[in-house]
Amino acid sequence: MERILPATDENIKKGAEILKGGGLVAFPTETVYGLGANAFLSQAVARVFEVKGRPRFDPLIVHISHRQMVFHLFREVPSVAEVLMEKFWPGPLTLVLPKKEEVPDIVTAGLSTVAVRMPDHPVALKLIEWTGAPVAAPSANRFGHLSPTRAQEVALDLGEGVDLILDGGKTKIGVESTVIMIEEEKIFLLRPGGVSVEEIEKWVGKIETTLSSPEILSPGTLKKHYAPRIPLYLFEGDVEELLLCDLSGIAIVSPFPIAHSREEVKVLSEKGDIREVASNLFSVLRELEESHFRAIISLTVEEKGLGRAVMDRLKRASSGYVKVREGKLVL
Ligand code: AMP
Ligand code: MG
Repeated sequence: MERILPATDENIKKGAEILKGGGLVAFPTETVYGLGANAFLSQAVARVFEVKGRPRFDPLIVHISHRQMVFHLFREVPSVAEVLMEKFWPGPLTLVLPKKEEVPDIVTAGLSTVAVRMPDHPVALKLIEWTGAPVAAPSANRFGHLSPTRAQEVALDLGEGVDLILDGGKTKIGVESTVIMIEEEKIFLLRPGGVSVEEIEKWVGKIETTLSSPEILSPGTLKKHYAPRIPLYLFEGDVEELLLCDLSGIAIVSPFPIAHSREEVKVLSEKGDIREVASNLFSVLRELEESHFRAIISLTVEEKGLGRAVMDRLKRASSGYVKVREGKLVL
């Protein structure tokens, strides 16, 4: 069987049969492509970790297609979670709450909580619905690499490891979901993503965004992650000065338009829209790692709204900042 198939209803049904039988299916969501397994089949979930090369201490997000499914996953649903599900589902918001005993430990990496979201994508929703079970799905890339926003990138990263890749075109949002944990009256941001902190706070008041060590609470938020295969550095100084340096072999990524006349400058959004920046971030970094460049320097964005998620991914992808000193690039 051809492994990449267009996401027609017929092929989504094939995918659902594969998931029911304990296989793995990669599928598009509104954020990035996911590598799915039936969340209640521990052996299938174990294969997800193997195929990705993902450490077992890094828990998976469970995807559902209708609200009632949370009752198989969460022990209780507090009223603030009800509000957030009502406002943001389907959408790029993941809720972490105490889990039901039946949720396999391998899904949650042994934690007593489980992360759940309802993706806003017809292919993902049909696949889950027709499987008839929640689908555990991390991003469909090798562990530590950039998340895939196109079906071909999944095939390049995971090769034979995945039974079927449903091709639904390029994903819209391009960065992963926002992950928040709800604990009694407090809400903690574990990972910035497709829904901004400001939007969440409109409905539930202030949330805690300054966890000193989210790695402890959310083991997957490792410092180095989402990285291209060539080194990436960040730059916050005077762009004109940067462009005067010897940049041979170096690509410059600029989220927003800048005045330049150099071929090595890649602008993520010519119209200056942060949503387009997020949506193009991973695909442009993937294109650059496949090209002749040996390093990337990225300009930064303000850490507000979606910019918070963009900067989170850029910082995790980077090996630090570069500066210009006396006309030369220095680390
Ligand atoms: P990915 O599937 O690659 O987008 O990563 C999912 C991320 O969600 C993990 O790496 C964790 O950071 C977070 N996560 C999933 N489950 C939990 C949980 N039970 N508690 C805290 N964070 C979680
Ligand atoms: Mg991932």
